[in-house]
Amino acid sequence: MVRVAFINPFSEEGRQMVRELGNIKSLYEENAHLINLVNRSRSQDISDEGSIPHNHIDMALKRLEWYMKKKNDPSFDYRKYAYLLDPEITKFDVIAFYLLSQAIGVKFGPNSRESRAMVESQGKLMESRLGELFKSEKRVLVAQILNSLLMDEVKWTFFEDLLSSKKIKLPDLIIDQGNIILNKEDFMESFSSKIKHRDPDKMYNLLVGDHIKELIMTKMIMQKTENYISTVYEKSRREVEPNPLLLELAEEISKILSETTMSYGYGGSYGGEVKASPLNPKAFPPCVKTVLEGIKSGGRNDAIILFLTPFLSYARLYPDVFRRNVTMKVSDVDPQLKVVENEILPLVYGAAERCSPPLFEDQPQEKVNINAKMGFGMHTQIELKHEGETTWYTPMSCEKVKLHLPSLCKPDETCKKIGNPLSYYIRKLREIKGDEDGSED
Ligand code: SF4
Repeated sequence: MVRVAFINPFSEEGRQMVRELGNIKSLYEENAHLINLVNRSRSQDISDEGSIPHNHIDMALKRLEWYMKKKNDPSFDYRKYAYLLDPEITKFDVIAFYLLSQAIGVKFGPNSRESRAMVESQGKLMESRLGELFKSEKRVLVAQILNSLLMDEVKWTFFEDLLSSKKIKLPDLIIDQGNIILNKEDFMESFSSKIKHRDPDKMYNLLVGDHIKELIMTKMIMQKTENYISTVYEKSRREVEPNPLLLELAEEISKILSETTMSYGYGGSYGGEVKASPLNPKAFPPCVKTVLEGIKSGGRNDAIILFLTPFLSYARLYPDVFRRNVTMKVSDVDPQLKVVENEILPLVYGAAERCSPPLFEDQPQEKVNINAKMGFGMHTQIELKHEGETTWYTPMSCEKVKLHLPSLCKPDETCKKIGNPLSYYIRKLREIKGDEDGSED
């Protein structure tokens, strides 16, 4: 049977593993037991020595590297990290979890890209690990963990954190008189007499079943991870001098995140990719140039908020979005949000100002919608802690522009070859670069 701590490092079993760790200096020492477990893991590629962790610190870094590469590297090889899904590794994994969370807590705090990567990686690891289990085994394990996380009767307000951070949405939950229904018995008691012409048993499986339980358990542990990082951060500010080992580990964590982003995201280096770089207005399509001059007639708000903001943010930060088809957040490519503040927003605000009447003059609240379209929720300020509350909108296709904002579309020759203003921009950038390279010869 898989141990509870393999999924929930906050369990009593997990905490006991940390208490038993002993001397912290041993974290950097070669650990034969760990190496042996990794080498024996099913499907593990042992031909590459670099993919085998040799000590606790290595293990912690590999744990985060797995997530970053899985998310960003198109040629991600799961066999190099197969041991992370092997329950035999539980003890080492729990120590790795606490090392990472503490290092991130003391150095970066809860509103950092490092914290987000940690919380998301924990979610993905739990999901992948559960996916490896037999249905019956998974059911028992999830029930056991949920029992320890929840009280007997759960009011929906208990999930306040999860709901406000959008980790769980209210429509995901089945609620009866303010209580969340998770068990089959409770569901039958509350609803079986009300369900007509349908099998209540099947309805339970459809509406609640294993899926909702796994979702709630996973999101609760992710929230606990975030809270734990926050507690470590607060504590380190108030009381104790951080352990140099944790600060050193934090540097390595930051390096992994930056290297992955540089290799596969922001700076990128693999074939045919378009690098993120300062905007070149010469490559803008006619529709974008029109909005930048300011909208004098109808469609002003949509042109600035729904059309221009997504276009400029993607063109500047993630021009390859359609080719790569990998979801990213703004902070994955602009961790300090400097590019957003210094390059993207001034252009959007400038265009808004040139409209007639100027957009923010009569509707200053629309700034909130601009922030929302870049993924930062409905807030007046762009802040990392709100990222993910809304989606970073991808740029409209030409078809949509023609349908909703027809006055913007004044196609030229290049427009015949593309289907999205962003593709126009990339094509033009390549042409300009080609001309420049040619003139150097
Ligand atoms: S065809 Fe597309 S890129 Fe060209 S002006 Fe119209 S909307 Fe813009």
